Amino acid sequence: MSGEILFLNPVFKQMIWGGDRLGKDWPYQIPGDNTGECWAVSAHPNGDCTIKKGTYAGQTLSKLWEENPELFGNTGKDRFPLLVKIIDAKDDLSIQVHPDDNYAKVNENGSLGKTECWYVLDSREGASLVVGHNAANKDELTSMVREGKWNELLREIPVKKGDFIQIEPGTVHAIKGGLMILETQQNSDITYRVYDYNRLTNGKPRELHLEKSLDVITVPAKSVDESILEADKLPENKLNLLVACGYYKVWKLDVTEKFEMQQDQDFMIMSVINGEGMLNDEKICKGDHFILPCGYGGISIQGNLQLIVSAPA
Ligand code: ZN
Repeated sequence: MSGEILFLNPVFKQMIWGGDRLGKDWPYQIPGDNTGECWAVSAHPNGDCTIKKGTYAGQTLSKLWEENPELFGNTGKDRFPLLVKIIDAKDDLSIQVHPDDNYAKVNENGSLGKTECWYVLDSREGASLVVGHNAANKDELTSMVREGKWNELLREIPVKKGDFIQIEPGTVHAIKGGLMILETQQNSDITYRVYDYNRLTNGKPRELHLEKSLDVITVPAKSVDESILEADKLPENKLNLLVACGYYKVWKLDVTEKFEMQQDQDFMIMSVINGEGMLNDEKICKGDHFILPCGYGGISIQGNLQLIVSAPA
C-alpha cells in the first residue's frame, strides 16, 4: 500500500425542496432546515470540497487535481471527472433534463454534459421518481410540453430503498419528495428545467428552459424495465457492478465480514452509506466519503457496513 486515503469535507446546499435529514440521520452539521444537497466528492467551482486531514489537509479537490495529477492516474483530463452528492428531497424537485457533452460544449461555454445515476438510500412509503415520458415522437412531445399536459407526458414510477437508476442525457427526470438518494454524476452543473409545478421562489417562478429541453429530450424514452435495477440484496463482501458507462463505473459493496481488493483504477471513490468498520488501519463510518488514490494498492475492509463505490471510466 502506498499513499494516503483522501477524506473529504462535504459542501452543503440549501434548496426550496430540501429537508433536515442530512443533519438528523447523517452525521453532518447542516446550514439550515432546507438542506437539499450534500456535495460529498466534488471539485466543481459551485462546491469545491476540501481535504479533511493528512498531507493535503485544507486543500481543495480541484487544486489537488491540478497540482498532484499523479494521485488520480495522470489522465491529462482538464478537470476532476466525477461528482458525488447525497440528496434529501423533502419536496419534489423540478422536472429536468441534461444535455450530452456535444450539446453542452456548443451551447454552454464548453461545459460537460451530464450523465448521472441514483442509488435510493431511503424512501417514504409510496415514493416515486419521474423517469422518461410518454410521447411517441417529437411532435407529440413538443405539443404536450407547449400545452402543459404534464400528467399525460411525465412517466412516474414507484421506487424503494435499494433501487438504482441510470439517467442518460436526454432523459426527462425528477426526484420526488420523500426520497434520499446518492447521486454519482459527471462533473457538471448544467440542468434544463422543464416544469417546476408552478412553484414560486421569493414570489417568482424559477426560470424554465423549454427550447433547450426540447432540443435535448430523447424520443421515445427508454422503457421502465430498462431504467431500474434492484440493488438491495446483492452478494456480500464483493463489489457488485451496478453500471459501467462512458464516464464512470459504480458498484455496491455490502461488507459483513471481510472484503479485500487491489485498488487498480485511476482512483476510486467510496461513500459509506451505512454502518461502520475499518479500512486497513483507518476507522470509517456512515457519512464518510473518501478517495483511494492511484497506486494505493491493497485494501481490506472489515466490519458491518454498506458502501457505494465509483471510479472514472
Ligand atoms: Zn439530473
